[in-house]
Amino acid sequence: MGQTTPPPGHSDHPKAGAVGTSPRHPAATDAALGDRLRRAGVSLTLQRLVIAQVLLARPVHLTADQVWSLARELMPEISRATVYNTLDLFERSNLLRRLIVDTEKVVFDSNVSPHHHLYDITTGEVADLAPGEVKVVGTPVLPPNLELADIDVVVRVRRRDS
Ligand SMILES: [Zn+2]
Repeated sequence: MGQTTPPPGHSDHPKAGAVGTSPRHPAATDAALGDRLRRAGVSLTLQRLVIAQVLLARPVHLTADQVWSLARELMPEISRATVYNTLDLFERSNLLRRLIVDTEKVVFDSNVSPHHHLYDITTGEVADLAPGEVKVVGTPVLPPNLELADIDVVVRVRRRDS
């Protein structure tokens, strides 16, 4: 009521704040990300904060080189070795999961809660499956010295030809 409807054909105005996928305004989340790193036992450096902005600000699945490339947009001088070492550190600190989707492709997943994945082998895209979409029934009987750490399922799909 009382709201003006935009005329047809004018619906593609870029809306302020509609981007959402680009880490362009890191200041707002710096404190929260820094807090998260500290809580995970990771001491803060500028490089680690940059990598946290790329990976931890929202759920993503990125290869190490994708992380490096996005990190360089925020900090052009950041080295590949720093990115790789930080990914190892974040993984050890349980901030990330390393997901091996095939022998050629490893992605880092910023969602560390248990979940399964859909992997499009045509495009290389990795997406989370909604909870309950795939259910694993039963668990193996394990020797007494072993405990279950994780079960994850990668559902591989490809584009149909027709
Ligand atoms: Zn995931």
